[in-house]
Amino acid sequence: MIHKSEERYIIIIGCGRLGAYLANSLGESKYNSIVMIDKNEISFERLTTTFSGFTLEADALELEVLTKAKVKEADVVVVTTNDDNTNIMIAQIAKRIFNVPMVISRLIDPSRERVYAELGIDTISTTALSAIEFKRIIDENRWQK
Ligand code: AMP
Repeated sequence: MIHKSEERYIIIIGCGRLGAYLANSLGESKYNSIVMIDKNEISFERLTTTFSGFTLEADALELEVLTKAKVKEADVVVVTTNDDNTNIMIAQIAKRIFNVPMVISRLIDPSRERVYAELGIDTISTTALSAIEFKRIIDENRWQK
């Protein structure tokens, strides 16, 4: 039996290519209780049949949507929409208004990393991470002609 205090309540905003992938892997742990929010219902089709969390079709920029998702009780909010401005706004609302202890945001444009850092929002720069990994593979194989 899982004790309530062992469970992590995770809200993922954006059930696109990134959010759904993350939800499907986080969902493999019985300790994670997950709610997915996406403004487009069709996005939830990316979730695997074993996904046991909840889905909410709504625009996460609206305060009442986050309230409905019980964001105040969340341990983690991950913001993964495809728009940096949307992500920064939602991340700030979750952090400043609802005091969520851990808020992590997807960052598409790496040149904006500093802005997020100044606002105290943790980011994962998907573009920068991909470039680093591409470079690592190219560098590692440089002598294999
Ligand atoms: P992707 O780029 O494939 O990771 O998809 C991004 C996802 O974010 C899409 O499924 C969009 O419908 C979703 N999305 C974009 N803006 C919002 C928003 N304001 N609220 C909820 N979901 C959103």
